[in-house]
Amino acid sequence: MAAAGAWRRSGAKVMRGPRAKGCPPAAALKRNVPAYLAASWRASQCVYRSSKSELMPNVTTEGLVCAPLQTFTEEETMLKNMVKRFAQERVAPLVQKMDENSKMEDSVIKGLFEQGLMSIELGEEYGGTGASFFSVILAVEELAKVDPTVALMCELQNTLTNKLFTTYGTEEQKKTYLPKVSKDTIGSFCLSEAGSGSDAFSLKTRAEKKGDYYIINGSKMWITLAEHAGVFFVMANTDPASGYKGITCFIVDRDTEGLHVGKKEDKLGIRASSTCPVTFENVKVPETNILGQIGQGYKYAIGMLNGGRIGIAAQMLGLAQGCFDHAVPYTKERVQFGKRVFDFQLNFMGELDDVDVQLFSIVGCQAMQHQIAQVATQLEAARLLTYNAARLAETGKPFIKEASMAKYYAAEVATLTTSKCIEWMGGVGFTKNYPIEKYYRDCKIGTIYEGTSNIQLSTIAKSLAQEY
Ligand SMILES: Cc1cc2nc3c(=O)[nH]c(=O)nc-3n(C[C@H](O)[C@H](O)[C@H](O)COP(=O)(O)OP(=O)(O)OC[C@H]3O[C@@H](n4cnc5c(N)ncnc54)[C@H](O)[C@@H]3O)c2cc1C
Repeated sequence: MAAAGAWRRSGAKVMRGPRAKGCPPAAALKRNVPAYLAASWRASQCVYRSSKSELMPNVTTEGLVCAPLQTFTEEETMLKNMVKRFAQERVAPLVQKMDENSKMEDSVIKGLFEQGLMSIELGEEYGGTGASFFSVILAVEELAKVDPTVALMCELQNTLTNKLFTTYGTEEQKKTYLPKVSKDTIGSFCLSEAGSGSDAFSLKTRAEKKGDYYIINGSKMWITLAEHAGVFFVMANTDPASGYKGITCFIVDRDTEGLHVGKKEDKLGIRASSTCPVTFENVKVPETNILGQIGQGYKYAIGMLNGGRIGIAAQMLGLAQGCFDHAVPYTKERVQFGKRVFDFQLNFMGELDDVDVQLFSIVGCQAMQHQIAQVATQLEAARLLTYNAARLAETGKPFIKEASMAKYYAAEVATLTTSKCIEWMGGVGFTKNYPIEKYYRDCKIGTIYEGTSNIQLSTIAKSLAQEY
C-alpha cells in the first residue's frame, strides 16, 4: 500500500529532477508565477453562490422536506389548470386572426380581467386574486403555450404595472389605481426612447417643476400595450444636471392633454401586442402623481425589470413548449420511407441502401429522436432556471443573476425549439396553416426586450465578478 503523502514526495523528486535544456529551474519558475497560478490546487476562498446549499425552512417531521422545483401548491395547481382551460377555450380560436390583424381581440382582454389574470398577486381588497408571484409565472407560461402576445399582456400588467403601484405607490395612489388595474385598466411602461435603448438612462424626456405640478416633454418608443393602456408610467428627468439620478417616474393618465399615442409598429412577431411611440407635449402632471421619490426612477426601473425578466423567461418557455407540443405529435403521424418521422434514428440507417442514405441526408431527418430529445432536455433546463429564479424572488432571496440567466437561456431555447420544430414538420411547418411559423416569429423578441441577451450576459458576468 502506498504510504500517505507519497504523491507529495514523488512531486518533490520531480522538482529536483534533471532539467530540459533551456528551461529555467523550477524554483525560479515558482518565484515568477503570479499568485493565481501558484494557488492551483488550494481550495478557493470563493464559492459560486448558486452552488451554496441552504437548510430548507419550515422543515417538519411529517411535511414534505425537499420538493422538486416542479412541485406546486394546491392554489398554484388550480390556477395553472384554470389558465390552461381559458387559453384553450377563449384564446386559441382567435390566435391566427389576432396575428393576421395585428390586433388583440377585446374579448380576450375582457377574459383576462374577468379571470383575475391581470391582478394575480394583488390583494383581494383591491379586487385581485391574492396569489403568489410563482402563480404569475405559471399563468404566463400557460398563456404563452397558446399565444405569447396574450401572455405578454398578463406578464406586463402583473410584473410591472401592479408591482410598481404596490411597491412604490402612496396609499392614495394605490386606492385610486389598484382597483382599476384589477378591473379594466391596462398599464404601459415608458422607458425607452429613440436614442436610448440598452443605455436606457440616457433618456431625454424632461419634467420641469412648476409650482405643485410638472410639465413633461419628450418622446418614448416601443411602448408595449400603448394602444389599450389607460395609465402610463413615464420615466422623465427632473434634474438633467444629476444625470440618471434625476430620473423620476410619473403616473400619467391616458386622457391627459398633450399625451399622444402614435401609429403601431409593423412587427415581425408578437403582432397582436401593440407597440407604439408615445409623445408628451407640455403634459401637465400634478406632483401627487410622482411614483415613489424624485430621482429614484432609475432604481425602480432596474428593480422592476429584474423581476420582469423572470416573466419574459416564462413567456419564452411557454412559447417553446407550445411549439414543441404541436410539432412532436405531427412527427409521430407523418410517414416517410415507410416509417413515422419520429422513428428515424441513426440505427435505422443500417437498413437503408446507399441511395436511401443520400436521400435521407437531403431531407435532413436522420437522428430525429436525438434532436427531439435534445430540445426536450433544453426546454426542461429552461423551465428549471425560470422556476428557480421565481422561487428565489418570491422568497425574498437574491435573484438578479438567476433572472438574467433564465431570460437569456429561455430566449435561446425558444429560438432553437421553434427553428427545429419547423424543420421537423418540413414544408407545412413553414406555412401559416400551422402555428409553428408564428412561434418562430414571436420568439425573437425574447432576445431584445427587457434587456437584450448581451445585457443579460453582462448582468450575469457582473454578478460573477463580485462572487469570485
Ligand atoms: C416589441 C418591443 C416591445 C418593447 N416594449 C417596451 C416597453 O413596453 N417599454 C419600454 O420602455 N421599452 C420597450 N421596448 C424597448 C426595448 O427594451 C429595447 O428595444 C431594448 O432595450 C434594446 O434597445 P435598442 O432597441 O435601442 O437596441 P440597442 O440598445 O441599440 O442595441 C443594439 C445591439 O447592441 C447591443 N448592445 C447595446 N449595448 C451593449 C452593451 N453595453 N454590451 C454589449 N452589447 C450591447 C445589444 O445587445 C443589441 O444587440 C420594446 C422593444 C420592442 C422591440
